[in-house]
Amino acid sequence: MTLKKLLKPKSLRDLLFRIYVGIIAFSLIGLIIALAFPRKDAPKTPEDTKAVDKATYWSDENGTVAQDVRYLTDTHEFNFDFSDEYSEYGISPAPAKLSKNGWNLLLLNKKYILPTNYEMDLQFLTGTSVRLESVAAKAFDSMYIDALKSGLTLTAFSGYRNFESQRRLFEDKIYTLEVEAAQQYANGGYYDAQGNYVEPVKTEKKTIVNNAAKSVCPPGCSDHNAGLAVDIVSQSDDFSKSEEYKWLTENAHTFGFVLRYPAGKEKITGMDFQPYCWRFVGVNAAKEMKEKNLCLEEYVGGYLDRG
Ligand SMILES: [Zn+2]
Repeated sequence: MTLKKLLKPKSLRDLLFRIYVGIIAFSLIGLIIALAFPRKDAPKTPEDTKAVDKATYWSDENGTVAQDVRYLTDTHEFNFDFSDEYSEYGISPAPAKLSKNGWNLLLLNKKYILPTNYEMDLQFLTGTSVRLESVAAKAFDSMYIDALKSGLTLTAFSGYRNFESQRRLFEDKIYTLEVEAAQQYANGGYYDAQGNYVEPVKTEKKTIVNNAAKSVCPPGCSDHNAGLAVDIVSQSDDFSKSEEYKWLTENAHTFGFVLRYPAGKEKITGMDFQPYCWRFVGVNAAKEMKEKNLCLEEYVGGYLDRG
């Protein structure tokens, strides 16, 4: 029997059977190949893609160029090489305690820095390039929708920032204050009420750095570094006088957000009043903090310890 004879179908039924077996065999081979060499999936969510810093510029009514920078990173892990670079100015934070009260009550300030390799699950706020810790992001989205019902848009300007972004903000603030101090010095002395000449005084770097730390947190010391704070802006120049601010003070706690640096608590938080900076702590804590008028330092450091 020759090969030719062997391959030749004996009947139509035999031909159809051979085609059928061929298709099955072909499919099986395909399946085996697919299992052996899995295709690398395309990014599932925007956060898996490598994001870049985005900046937009505009000119305000005075012709000054303003900058809107949205800091994005490509990692969920907070990594840095902390060199204690501000310790000579009296700022040397210790690693924050993580497990004490749960991640949502993590306390970061000039005394407590986010530990390196801190892992978080970040998520974009719907329709924005701003990211927050995923639970906080979902809470913000709900809050955003609720505010819309009242005709208000809670525009998230800044959420998660990495170490370098925070350092850049802090260094920019130091630089601005240094320029101001130098200008003041260059303006020379003045005559006081008694007619005595007062010599110009050089402001020390330590004073400048500590003044900067009253409005911008040092790198690693901001709630933004943990994806737990969101800065909200409005059309109003002074956010504390905006309808959005009023709405937030009345409603944010029901979504788990509190004002991070309230007015009247400057000595406890170490920071100037920031009407735009809202921190996620969870609904229970937010309600209790609002009810008892406590800032996070008081709630975590004082109130909780007493309980
Ligand atoms: Zn903030």
